[in-house]
Amino acid sequence: MPRPAPADITFLSSLHSGTILSCPDCGMGLYMLTKKVQRGGRFAGSVKSLAGVPEYAGGGMPRRCPLCKRGEWWYPPGTVHTLQHGWVE
Ligand SMILES: [Zn+2]
Repeated sequence: MPRPAPADITFLSSLHSGTILSCPDCGMGLYMLTKKVQRGGRFAGSVKSLAGVPEYAGGGMPRRCPLCKRGEWWYPPGTVHTLQHGWVE
């Protein structure tokens, strides 16, 4: 799956608790933030996995959706796909 185009990315200084990281391909919610995460911050310890999704683990690779196994919802260093805002950096 191609990296999102700059025009499709919203720039936010932080993501609030309750934001859902979701798959851009199948649209399923994957992880919910349990606390506010600043731009450039880490998700480890700040997210809980939603039903049927494995625990979040750190690491520096693009993340493939564990449900459809197609969509990539995170591109390093800090572009993620959210249910509420679409692509965010
Ligand atoms: Zn998916």
